[in-house]
Amino acid sequence: MLRIETGGSPYGARLITDQPYKQGEMLCRIENYKVTDQATYQTVQIGPHAHIEELGVLAYLNHSCQPNVIVDTRAMAVYAARDIAAGEELTFFYPSTEWEMDRPFICLCGAAQCIRLVAGAKYLSIDTLSRYFINQHIRDMALAALEQAVQHETTRTVS
Ligand SMILES: [Zn+2]
Repeated sequence: MLRIETGGSPYGARLITDQPYKQGEMLCRIENYKVTDQATYQTVQIGPHAHIEELGVLAYLNHSCQPNVIVDTRAMAVYAARDIAAGEELTFFYPSTEWEMDRPFICLCGAAQCIRLVAGAKYLSIDTLSRYFINQHIRDMALAALEQAVQHETTRTVS
C-alpha cells in the first residue's frame, strides 16, 4: 500500500510505501488519468505536447536527484529504481518526464549530485541526464534541441 503523509517534508505532503520492493518491481500502474495539452505543477508529461492530470496518489510523488522510483510514461507504470524498504518516501526524478516545468524550484534532496534548480530536462546537460532513467519523449526532445544547437552553430560558422 502507498499512503500519503502530510508534514515533515519541505514539499508538504509525501508518498510513503508500507511494503518493501525489489529493484525493477512494479509499484503501481498509472490509471484513470486525463490527457491535456496544458502543463501545470500537478501534471506529468508523456509526450512533446501531452501531459496527464488527475494522477491520484501519484500526485504526491516528490522529486529527488537520487530517486527510488521510475515513472515510465510508455508503460504507464511506476517501478522501483532500486530496492526500497517499507516506510521509505517515494521519489522520482522530475526531469525524467518534464521538459520545461511550470513551476521550477530549488531542490533540497541533499544528494551529492543534486542538480539544485529543478526546471526540467531542457535546462540540464546530456551528461546529467545520462545518469538517470529518462523517458523516450524527453530523450527525443533533448536530441532535437542538440541538433538545433549544432545546426545553428554550423550556420553561424559558414556565414
Ligand atoms: Zn536534489
